[in-house]
Amino acid sequence: MDIQCSDKELFLFKKIAHAAAEGSVPAYVVGGFVRDKLLGRASKDADIVCVGDGIALAQAVANRFSPPPNVAVYKNFGTASIKIDGFDIEFVGARKESYRYHSRNPEVAPGTMEEDQLRRDFTINALAVSLNPADYGQLIDPFNGQADLANRLIRTPLSPDQTFSDDPLRMMRAIRFASQLGFSIETKTWQGLCLQVERIRIISQERITEEFNKILLSEKPSVGLDLMYRSGLMHIVFPQLVDLAGAEYVDGMGHKDNFYHTLQVVDNIAPFTQDLWLRWAALLHDIGKPATKRFEGGHGWTFHGHEVVGGRMVPKIFTRMKLPQHEKMKYVRKLVELHLRPISLTKEEITDSAIRRLLFDAGDEIDDLMLLCSADITSKNKQKVKRFRENFDLVRQRLQEVEEKDRIRNWQPPITGEMIMAIFGLPPGRVVGDIKNAIREAILDGEIENNYDAAFDLMIQRAAALNLHPVR
Ligand code: ATP
Repeated sequence: MDIQCSDKELFLFKKIAHAAAEGSVPAYVVGGFVRDKLLGRASKDADIVCVGDGIALAQAVANRFSPPPNVAVYKNFGTASIKIDGFDIEFVGARKESYRYHSRNPEVAPGTMEEDQLRRDFTINALAVSLNPADYGQLIDPFNGQADLANRLIRTPLSPDQTFSDDPLRMMRAIRFASQLGFSIETKTWQGLCLQVERIRIISQERITEEFNKILLSEKPSVGLDLMYRSGLMHIVFPQLVDLAGAEYVDGMGHKDNFYHTLQVVDNIAPFTQDLWLRWAALLHDIGKPATKRFEGGHGWTFHGHEVVGGRMVPKIFTRMKLPQHEKMKYVRKLVELHLRPISLTKEEITDSAIRRLLFDAGDEIDDLMLLCSADITSKNKQKVKRFRENFDLVRQRLQEVEEKDRIRNWQPPITGEMIMAIFGLPPGRVVGDIKNAIREAILDGEIENNYDAAFDLMIQRAAALNLHPVR
């Protein structure tokens, strides 16, 4: 084998080779699996192309196992897949493709292996390994994909204009691979991509977002995000992010470029989390800045309330990007809204009650919020960074102390609305909420102790002021 495979993979490929030889259909491992093996990256799936009927080959391979694995057949696509020991193998017949201008769905017809390799998006994705008796294990590399792997280059096998115009999703894929693999996009490929960006409009939002999320999950997301910006794709796909770009000057006073600041924050958080939604929070934390930007004479640039405005933008952005609306959106919104809180506490203000409030408002998200807040410290001014860091560390330490003492993080006040209703014989309504909130605020402010008796006494007091008395 020209690629290094595990024993399990070799065993599987032998089985496929035998089934293919028996049916007299030439078969090849192709695409991402071969690319990732040559790069030493892990892979959980492999694509098999055969010059013939892919579904029949999948059945024949499955029958060589006892018991045979289930064969999932996708008749419309002419593909079938089986899963063995958690490893997915997809089978398809070699095909050639031709495109019509208004659709990214090509007309597909059976083709040769050469034609199949020619329809692939990048040279590094067109590599194949033979599973046939005459040249078993040999790498078939018609477009010098191996050299491009060595030179860390993304390049299209055919003319870039044609490749990107035929299927504009490939522009997102080019940038996604550049970001995931840390590769450069070859000059002509890049020029072709920049010329075709308008074509992205024929691609469904779901496909674009899938690639966008992969960029966001890559090791250094700024690579892909910046390429999207520089190509013009970002202007079409995510204009709100582009609005962050640039720095304005008045009376010689400028503000930082919030687009590049945002990219830095996303990169800063990346080593600490693989959670897509925390990375989304980092991406959107300052999204409200353009709408709140003001120049205040003698003072400079301000972005008052950008966290609130930004928070309100989150549901709209999630809808537009076809991202999940409920839990994940709420999580991102909460982090955007709270992102200034930890660092905005000045030394004098790091009181128990301020810390308790922060813990209460952030709840389970406190650790993620602190990660975001730490990633947000990007100033070039070393003194400023030092001051922020010290303050931040102090907040972190105080959070720990107060949480150990008061257990506020997942705290519910000791008197609930139901209790208040039962004790005073009240129906649900505003009065119940007012009494409950007064108890919660008093505990968070440290005015009363965090226990049932103290809360009960305050409840009686508040109720008496409203001329309410216990009914039992
Ligand atoms: P990953 O597994 O990291 O998402 P991949 O490219 O290995 O990326 P797929 O997206 O499943 O996995 O694609 C498998 C192969 O199919 C690619 O390696 C490429 O050869 C081909 N391919 C996928 N999408 C396209 C496309 N839009 N245009 C041309 N070829 C494509």
